[in-house]
Amino acid sequence: MNAAALLDRRRRYFATGATRPVGWRRGQLDALRRLLTEREQELTAALEEDLGKSRTEAFLSEIAVVRAELDFARRHLARWMAPEKIAVPGGLRPGRAWTQARPLGVVLIIGPWNYPLQLVLAPLVGALAAGNAAVLKPSELATATSAVLARLLPLYLDTDAVTVIEGGAEVSSDLLAQPFDHVFYTGGERVGKIVMKAAAEHLTPVTLELGGKSPAVVVGGDLRAAARRIAYGKFMNAAQTCVAPDYILTTPAAAPALAEALADAVQDFYGTDPRTSGDYGRIINDHHFDRLVGLLDGGTVVSGGRHDRAERYIEPTVLRDVDPDSPLMQEEIFGPLLPVLEVEDLDAAIRFIGARPHPLAAYLFSDRAEHLAAFTERVQAGGLAHNVCTIQLAVPGLPFGGVGASGTGSYHGRQSFVTFSHLQPVFSKPAGVDTLRLAYPPFGRVKRVL
Ligand code: NAD
Repeated sequence: MNAAALLDRRRRYFATGATRPVGWRRGQLDALRRLLTEREQELTAALEEDLGKSRTEAFLSEIAVVRAELDFARRHLARWMAPEKIAVPGGLRPGRAWTQARPLGVVLIIGPWNYPLQLVLAPLVGALAAGNAAVLKPSELATATSAVLARLLPLYLDTDAVTVIEGGAEVSSDLLAQPFDHVFYTGGERVGKIVMKAAAEHLTPVTLELGGKSPAVVVGGDLRAAARRIAYGKFMNAAQTCVAPDYILTTPAAAPALAEALADAVQDFYGTDPRTSGDYGRIINDHHFDRLVGLLDGGTVVSGGRHDRAERYIEPTVLRDVDPDSPLMQEEIFGPLLPVLEVEDLDAAIRFIGARPHPLAAYLFSDRAEHLAAFTERVQAGGLAHNVCTIQLAVPGLPFGGVGASGTGSYHGRQSFVTFSHLQPVFSKPAGVDTLRLAYPPFGRVKRVL
């Protein structure tokens, strides 16, 4: 079926109103929940095939995240759908005002390859909770996951409302040429611009979940604890995580000990040869492998650095003596290279971050309340976290999204419902006595109130 015909069919189904009742929405959310439970083995096997993810990591970082979103939406759906009363000023009374969440229609969800299941199904939770029909286009680079989603979703969900279309840039462009009611895109900045331009043709609103260089600033507290939390957030999924710390800013006094503690944490997690660890992933393809190996020249490798193209394996690697103007510090790394840069203090770190495009996330490691307050007040990023990294995404009620170069719009929890809804305002005055007559022209004439 071509893209125009597909959209037309989904639109006609949407127009019947079938997707609007709370019962349909709950039914779809429950069916998706069942799919994740009953097909967990197939799903984790696909993720392992695509990214060498351990089954445990695939469960925790993909399936469990979607399940948490589903459970949260299921629990709060009735309240989210309820009309919200708005106060009416005296001059307009009698009258009532409220907003009523309406589904947008047929939405397009385009996913990336790094969390190929989570990043199409978590938005789908919002789309279904809000009562939309949806077309999903998973990443063609995560071939096995794309195929398993295309096979399984129709077995569980309403096939008149939800469709998975597989394919790459060409298929994506065909879909984007259609007047969807919303486009939800997760991926890189370059394609983000293409998506936004294509959507502009139809004035289709977009959510762009992009990436960027997310910093982790370490200026206090227990360095070894910070190193373990950073190594965990960075090297999961072989550091192909949009909110992974891209680089570290720390003081010259702390840098040597922090670099050493990072190497120790890597060894604790993945052993002396992470290549043999079943818990450490692989780079998605040769292109990204070559790109990452090229970035190694940007600094001095102080731990890790081994790599093998045949396996697309790159060891968790810590670098120091990094040139801020090197490609390592100019592009989003999106792989297991972790540069440690030195700055005088927290203030210098905040200025360093502020001089660059807004990142998707920014992390501060410190035990001083004034540090946490200053960082929270002065750093603009999609999201902030104190003394952890990456796992803030596991809080289902916390909105997630970028700002500026790292994206536009957000989702997770209620924000997903809002993203996929139109909060339609309604003002309702009783018919009868014309209480607006004072406002009518001609304005010079004296009018009687009643
Ligand atoms: P990508 O931009 O290459 O591809 C993403 C999607 O866009 C794929 O489905 C692909 O088929 C499609 N696409 C590719 N070329 C296209 C074109 N010319 N026209 C239309 N569609 C096209 O992104 P990626 O490499 O898969 O993902 C990595 C990037 O995504 C990183 O920058 C990362 O930070 C970001 N990311 C962001 C989040 C987030 O939630 N904010 C999550 C994961 C990844």
